[in-house]
Amino acid sequence: MLKQQGITDLAKMVAALPSAEKQRFDGIFHISSSIGRLNPPPPMHKWIEEHFGSVEAVLEQRIVRVTNLVTMEGSSFNELRSQRPMVTEPPEALEKLITEDLDGPFCRPLEGTPEDVFGRVEGKHSITASNIAKFDGLHGVVIFDEHDPLTFSEERIGDYIDTALEWAQRAHATDGDARYFFLLWNCLWRAGASIVHGHAQVVLGRDMHYAKVEHLRREALEYRKVTGRNYFDDLYLVHHVLGLALDMDGARILGYLTPTKDKEIFLISEALDGSLRRAIYRVLDCYVRGLGVSSFNLVIYMPPIGPVEEDWSGFPVLVRFLDRGDPMNRTAGMGAMELYASSIISSDPFRVIEVLRVSI
Ligand SMILES: [Zn+2]
Repeated sequence: MLKQQGITDLAKMVAALPSAEKQRFDGIFHISSSIGRLNPPPPMHKWIEEHFGSVEAVLEQRIVRVTNLVTMEGSSFNELRSQRPMVTEPPEALEKLITEDLDGPFCRPLEGTPEDVFGRVEGKHSITASNIAKFDGLHGVVIFDEHDPLTFSEERIGDYIDTALEWAQRAHATDGDARYFFLLWNCLWRAGASIVHGHAQVVLGRDMHYAKVEHLRREALEYRKVTGRNYFDDLYLVHHVLGLALDMDGARILGYLTPTKDKEIFLISEALDGSLRRAIYRVLDCYVRGLGVSSFNLVIYMPPIGPVEEDWSGFPVLVRFLDRGDPMNRTAGMGAMELYASSIISSDPFRVIEVLRVSI
């Protein structure tokens, strides 16, 4: 059987690109490959066979470390880890835990949650609350009318986003200097959610965008200054030429080469329009029903919602998704490597995009 090309073949694939494409790749990404070797004692063989298929599989391990030279994000992929089955089922016990949490404060938001000083925004399937312990002066919660965060539809996702954007406008009307909008959805405890009931959070900052968004804006401007090209367009082209991107009515979907954590998907769009909303839904649906993800982080990066001094030209709307792993697993899933060095990734972007391609 012909072996599918995967992330550990990246250097070979890039070497085979036409020179202009290779140059574009090399302007954004750096690849470092290495081989890890070990000698297991015979009493360990049975355990290794059970966990990795064969002893041979672990004797030599190909590792590829990818660095995004523009943003300085970095990810290490080990073929041993990345060849594990991609499609899994959400654990059965999870459903029980989600149901057990029914009748919490977000099931009765009018009594269970505070409202913002400007009141609540009500959508067809969502309502806002004021966050009780705030990340910033303006910090709200978009509470979904569906308790189970893994039950959603295209209409619902669109409604949550409409409600979030309307919240941003009302918050901005309350404080005209607050212009930097950020949406985050932590789905289930493993992704950082303290409440099970489906909800996203919204913040509107003053003075400067949140550090990682501002960093990306600065790096993209620097890239344009040096190359004369838009960073996000090039990021898409580099992924596209390697078979790591899909286009859905103008929303560009990337199996990102330097993910922060497993299965990171990057959506790039001119605006937070119907196409992007549909793409968000389709990716989430594939995440949960195609890839068996049950705990994820989703964020939306966008330029400020009011006039500011710094240059945001060419900065699109970005949506980033990542898998936080099995919610029944007690290991944190992120350790010192991710926080202080570079990310250790168990998924293969080539296989993630393949599942998405089939599903979308
Ligand atoms: Zn609930």
